[in-house]
Amino acid sequence: MNSLESSPAFRMACQQFDAVADFLEMPSPYRERVKMPKRLITVTCPVEMDNGDVKLFLGHRVQHHLALGPTKGGLRYHHKVDLGEVTALAMWMSWKCALAGLPYGGAKGGIACHPLEMSEGELERLTRRFTAEMIPFIGPHTDVMAPDMGTNEQTMAWMMDTYSTQVGHSVPGIVTGKPVKIGGSLGRREATGRGVAFLTGRALELLKLPEKSRIIIQGFGNVGSFAAYALAKNGYTIIGISDHTGGVFNPHGIDMTALHRHFQTSKVLEGFRGGDPISNEEILLQPCEALIPAAVERVITEENAGKLQCRVLAEAANGPTTFEADQILRKRDDIFVIPDILCNSGGVIVSYFEWVQNLQTFFWSEPEVFDKLYRLLGQAFDQVIKEAKVRNIDHRTAALAIGISKVVDAKKLRGLFP
Ligand code: NAD
Repeated sequence: MNSLESSPAFRMACQQFDAVADFLEMPSPYRERVKMPKRLITVTCPVEMDNGDVKLFLGHRVQHHLALGPTKGGLRYHHKVDLGEVTALAMWMSWKCALAGLPYGGAKGGIACHPLEMSEGELERLTRRFTAEMIPFIGPHTDVMAPDMGTNEQTMAWMMDTYSTQVGHSVPGIVTGKPVKIGGSLGRREATGRGVAFLTGRALELLKLPEKSRIIIQGFGNVGSFAAYALAKNGYTIIGISDHTGGVFNPHGIDMTALHRHFQTSKVLEGFRGGDPISNEEILLQPCEALIPAAVERVITEENAGKLQCRVLAEAANGPTTFEADQILRKRDDIFVIPDILCNSGGVIVSYFEWVQNLQTFFWSEPEVFDKLYRLLGQAFDQVIKEAKVRNIDHRTAALAIGISKVVDAKKLRGLFP
């Protein structure tokens, strides 16, 4: 486990777990069993590049626990992917699924690559090779993948096709987040972002903040963009947006129609003239009612946590706040945190709906999907707020305590196989 220990993301997930295990007074026989991943799989994927060279990519899949059902979690393409990060993301998935009441253990996958620098053909060959390497370890009742950073519906379509061709019949339930035309769910594409917008709205209402509240969003991919459009549609003012090319800030509100037009042609924020340029570091520190980190992990650190000027911190990304930063935020009762395992759970909730629709081969309308999504999200939000109030703890500890307790209970009830 030494290579895991060297990963800051893995250490952070462990620190979070240990703090909650202490809080829950979890007996020692369960601590390591509930914390450590059940299966860590690393494969090499040789891929022919467009120039004829064969390049070797390293891919990982971590299945955190198997106590509540199949494992479930995204697949990430990013050059910084490593086994420790993937393990941390799988741990957070476990607690997220348990918090939302889904019958899954957490999983995560990742391939270290530069997706934006690869051609469509190279990405397809990489995806198919990785899926082929994973076949002994995945299945609709074993482990189900979904898109994450750097992957999308097309990636899932290639995975489904590769798996289906191997087993000899179509298996839509092998992945979620696939195109609707091959068994995807209506609403899945928008689910995480719209879930973030729904919960941010709930928090702003609870704090009785004005309808025209100012919102800043870091990251404008699947999650950030749908959250931004949904919040703008609900009357909130988006004053800051950023992506990996930099940020744009406009205290009077960004014109979202112009931004949408820009993205349709440019695909990145660079070149958008609807505000002043701002760095990814500075954008987090601007005054606003809601700040939504929706890009990479560990952007709220002990250096900037004390300088945030938001009233709501809606953690759309996974693990955006370091353990040290969290200690600072706990002392700041001016900031209402919607912790990541709650805030971005809309994605896995609608993934679950997609999987259920695939297994029963019976599909739901979009309003049905969103009604069910908002009901589950609302319940989880209320549960976390209540737990925090009753036990006098912060929202992250409350959310993690609910999720982790459910995993412990499942392991206790199932017992230990000799
Ligand atoms: P994406 O690849 O669609 O978009 C990522 C965005 O972040 C892009 O706009 C990119 O330019 C930007 N970005 C990358 N590096 C950055 C940096 N250093 N600074 C600022 N911006 C940067 O990914 P996504 O699916 O939107 O996922 C974003 C986050 O949400 C990730 O943490 C992911 O794990 C989490 N998440 C995603 C889903 C989902 O359904 N897609 C569900 C739950 C959680």
